[in-house]
Amino acid sequence: MTCGSCAARVEGALQAVDGVGASRVNLATETASVIATPAGVDPADLLAAVREAGYEAESVEVGAALELDRGRDQQLVGQRGVLAQAIGLALPVVGLQHLAPLLFAGPAGGRPWWSIVQAVICTALLCLRPGRQILGGGLRAARHRSPNMDLLVSIGVAVAFVSSLVALVAGTGTYYFEAAALIVAFITLGRYFETRARREASGAVAALARRLPQTATRLHDGQPETVPVSDIRVGDHVRVAQDTLVPVDGRVLTGSAAVDESAITGESVPRSRGPGDPVRAGGVVREGMITVEATAVGEASAVGRILRAVEDAQAGKTRMQRIADRVAGVFVPIVIALALATFIGWVVAGWIDPGQDGAGIGWALRCAVAVLVIACPCAMGLATPTAVLVATGTAAGRGILVRDAAALEAAGQVNVILLDKTGTLTAGQAQVQEVWDEPVGPITTEAGAVLEWAASAEQFSQHPLARAIVAKARESNLKLRDVGEFANEPGLGVRATIDGHEVLVGSRALLAQHEVDFSTVQARADQMSADGQTVTLLAIDGVCAGVIGLLDTPRPGASRAVDHLTRLGIEPVMITGDQAATATAVAASVGIEEVHAEMLPESKLAQVRRRQEAGQRVAFVGDGINDAPALTGADVGIAFATGTDVAVESADITLLRDDLSLVAEAIELARRSVRIMKENLFWAFFYNMVAIPLAAFGVVRPGLAAAAMMASSISVVLNSLRLREKEGQNGKTAERQENAQASAQSAGAAGGQR
Ligand code: ADP
Ligand code: MG
Repeated sequence: MTCGSCAARVEGALQAVDGVGASRVNLATETASVIATPAGVDPADLLAAVREAGYEAESVEVGAALELDRGRDQQLVGQRGVLAQAIGLALPVVGLQHLAPLLFAGPAGGRPWWSIVQAVICTALLCLRPGRQILGGGLRAARHRSPNMDLLVSIGVAVAFVSSLVALVAGTGTYYFEAAALIVAFITLGRYFETRARREASGAVAALARRLPQTATRLHDGQPETVPVSDIRVGDHVRVAQDTLVPVDGRVLTGSAAVDESAITGESVPRSRGPGDPVRAGGVVREGMITVEATAVGEASAVGRILRAVEDAQAGKTRMQRIADRVAGVFVPIVIALALATFIGWVVAGWIDPGQDGAGIGWALRCAVAVLVIACPCAMGLATPTAVLVATGTAAGRGILVRDAAALEAAGQVNVILLDKTGTLTAGQAQVQEVWDEPVGPITTEAGAVLEWAASAEQFSQHPLARAIVAKARESNLKLRDVGEFANEPGLGVRATIDGHEVLVGSRALLAQHEVDFSTVQARADQMSADGQTVTLLAIDGVCAGVIGLLDTPRPGASRAVDHLTRLGIEPVMITGDQAATATAVAASVGIEEVHAEMLPESKLAQVRRRQEAGQRVAFVGDGINDAPALTGADVGIAFATGTDVAVESADITLLRDDLSLVAEAIELARRSVRIMKENLFWAFFYNMVAIPLAAFGVVRPGLAAAAMMASSISVVLNSLRLREKEGQNGKTAERQENAQASAQSAGAAGGQR
């Protein structure tokens, strides 16, 4: 694909296949993806449809970024050869055009010898790879009736070349060999730069893909053997030596090591990992050696999922780009019509006033060729996809996963942000502060019984308070009871049956909802609340049996993160299921003024809707099951990867590192991306608006037209590259990681050989 109209063309072809609900094609990554209807779709049909439309296609797996990247390397080398040919042959043509008449005496007009030499060189240029690439593309486009940039350029080159040949035979003396040669040379030059820039743009993802090593050391009956990573299955035991990449997600069986997972989470400090600890594919063992039991491999591993997510995001399109592509799709036929009109216009003008300067068929042809060449809509096709490509890659490098292009666009427009409290503003590492186990119920008279029952009921909940209670019980060496039934009551607590008893653990609202009287503990609970603790009540068989006070402190850096948001002009609002007293205390400590407490999942969503109706663009940051509706309903849902699965699935942006400052960073990056997309689109359209009339009126020669056209698309790609990490900031770290990782790779390979 060479331009936006190619992308539109392929998209249309895929859309027309039976069983395709929607299709999207990305020019920048040269990938397409479809969403199938329930009827299903045969991938072979998709490939056939693309071929039918005149393009090549193959299906790719996750991690395709890496393959594409390698492909681009080869492409680049090949393209360099083509470029050398193009320049080598175009230069003499241009030289002869301008120098020969000065240096040699020859017939004025008519058929000078150098024009014949030009014709020969030009023929060679068109028959060799530079010409074949362009004319071949044009022919294919014509055969499949899919007008695109290749077609425009091919018509331009062909018209210039053939008309000059005819003139040479007739000896009439207006030759455009120079124009034909220059167009071919500039288009080839442009392609080369574009390939290079695209390669750079996808660098971040490729770096991530390189985190999946190709081989691993598997233990077979205790004996190490080197196998391709794709052969590793869940349950296999894998040995990871010092300075090598962890090939799978898994759990450490033996050994201990410092594992650096910075490439995946952006967390730069290596963590020490011993038996029982989880490790993730893509981490590097910095010190020590571990044996790991694989729990997820390849596509299912953390880094595999990240790759898939980023690739998905890059395949998507912004609303802006969809409009631009539609324009580009109708653009080519319009340009051909305009070129024709230019030609006819000049011919007619010549008839009317033959004495006029520059009149004649030759001049008319020249202007028409310039229109064809200058008007290629390739910059339009690249305007936002390249920005999305660079932005999502950069974001992933910092531990920010953006679901799709639309999410990036929406995040750039946010002006109010609703933050959940527990697990989002607070560390999510709540601590049990006190357990009040006065013998209020018949069952919990023994010491530790309140904690034991509460923890038993909570053991299947992912809620931060639940985790804290379970952790405390484990710490106190309590044995958890078996649970019969279990249910989450989002925003309230949990319900479980244990040893035939009906157990509730959660807020006052939960107990109230189940009509459990808790007046016996009311005074104690109020006092805990006043101390800033989150009160959790335990009820067994409809009787309140104990109170647990938890202290849930704000994350380190929470107030700085909130401050950063405010500076971006975004209004921070806290929205929590917790009690007003606790909520207000936390809000005050991080600098949030507006607080909504005791919010159930639906009321969180209602808050989002209310603000959207007021015309605001809402981001919601949450971690829990109870946040899922609000995360989905908000313009942008943001969740921590450590949050509940439901929250992560509902979110548009997932933060891989447990750091609230990423929220503002994500929004800042998105804003810059949106700005760059707008600039790109503006320049792409503006360029065509100005360039076409200039070409039509003969101000711009065909050769210069080709140069201008390529400059416009290259400038768009370069502008997008500004979204990369700035050197000196994270760029340096990324570089360092790259180096470390390269040495890790080679060390790994050496280890394998041994
Ligand atoms: P936030 O909206 O601040 O994240 P949640 O909506 O998750 O808070 O929870 C609101 C309140 O519900 C908590 O303060 C707690 O009292 C109670 N709660 C929710 N889930 C649980 C649970 N699993 N165990 C104990 N209490 C819970
Ligand atoms: Mg929460």
